Amino acid sequence: MHLAQQTILVVMMVVFSSTLVMAAGLVLALRANEAGRLWAVGHVIASGAGLVIAASASAGSAELGALGAGAYVFGRLTIYRGVRVYYGMSEHAALLHGVGFVTLVLLMLLTGLPDGSRLVHGLAYGLLALISFFTVITMLRSARGRRSIGSPLVLASHLVLLISQVAALSYGATFKGFEVTPFFLQPEGSVWLLAPLVAVLLGLFGFCLMSMEQIIARNESGARTDALTGLLNRGALDMLAISMIARWQRNGEALSCLVIDVDYFKLVNDTHGHHAGDNVLREIATALDNSRRASDIAARYGGEEFCILCPHTDEHQATALANRILRKVRAIELPGAGGHASVSIGVAELRGGPSSREGLWRSLFATADRALYQAKQRGRDQFMLASSMIEETPVGDALQSVTEPQMIV
Ligand code: GH3
Ligand code: MG
Ligand code: MG
Repeated sequence: MHLAQQTILVVMMVVFSSTLVMAAGLVLALRANEAGRLWAVGHVIASGAGLVIAASASAGSAELGALGAGAYVFGRLTIYRGVRVYYGMSEHAALLHGVGFVTLVLLMLLTGLPDGSRLVHGLAYGLLALISFFTVITMLRSARGRRSIGSPLVLASHLVLLISQVAALSYGATFKGFEVTPFFLQPEGSVWLLAPLVAVLLGLFGFCLMSMEQIIARNESGARTDALTGLLNRGALDMLAISMIARWQRNGEALSCLVIDVDYFKLVNDTHGHHAGDNVLREIATALDNSRRASDIAARYGGEEFCILCPHTDEHQATALANRILRKVRAIELPGAGGHASVSIGVAELRGGPSSREGLWRSLFATADRALYQAKQRGRDQFMLASSMIEETPVGDALQSVTEPQMIV
């Protein structure tokens, strides 16, 4: 099927006015996501420019066409900036703004020259092909290993754009051996000429998905992380502990737990204020995080209490970690001339007990917590192994044995 130029221009106007409205809405919806905001703003600029280009083609105005082409390049550069921000690369905002501005000025100047419109199309399509090429390369290098639904769509869209932009350089009239008439200026053309317009829609949809994926991932990690220390929070610890216990049930590999409590921390708060106390907590959390192995998980259990779970580690191997932690925490200076921080640690290994995973986790933590209590009683700044605890009569039982005879009487 062949399409007349008028039909192609109408389709361009429909597509770009739709993407303009969608992208304008996305500027607001994605304002909290830096990459998403750049993509939406880039699509607003490119869509507006697309409408100007379609209008200039039907009006036959070369200046308007050059202005539209320059703005379109600017929009695609903004989208490329969003891709770089998304993958944590430097944005190169000043450089890319500069390229956009110089392109716009050059395109406007070129319209005044003989054969100007072909030069304009050659420069604009050449630059657009370069931008698409860099976007594809950036995405191929950075997206490896990341699971995403949006990025393959954006990649496909940019590949189609790249092919159509390169093809646009070899269409129609010849200029010094270069054929540069773009698809929308052909008197008529194949329906395949609409492929870049479909690619623009696909790209906008893909970018929208990528922004949503990033927002969801950040919310998920925010819900698992303790805001003060950056370690996992208690909810995430409980979830991971249950899955580690399931693995322990399957393969029987040792699993140890360290419960860590900061010594005399109330004194730090009372003497130097909560803000100073928060800083000490952060430093201690960093010391814990730097002491653990990659397979261990470190969490803030609550207040000034932390927990580290160590898979493939028996109680005695866990003492090496406990010693490392004691050493690192002793190196942390307290505010003022308050000396150095210290922690007490209870260490326990999962041995069995209640059959449910939740029950096993509760009992493992409680055993390590009892060992911690003894480490406190023995003078703090030390660890205590649960297996070498001196079994004490629980306070409740002791009371009962005193009161029971009196109740009989
Ligand atoms: P011990 O050696 O027996 O553990 O003494 P301690 O003073 O550390 O124990 P205690 O439980 O009496 O005090 C814990 C203090 O931790 C009290 C509380 O104000 C403080 N705390 C809990 N959470 C935070 C926090 O997020 N920031 C700050 N700055 N302090 C906190
Ligand atoms: Mg304490
Ligand atoms: Mg405490």
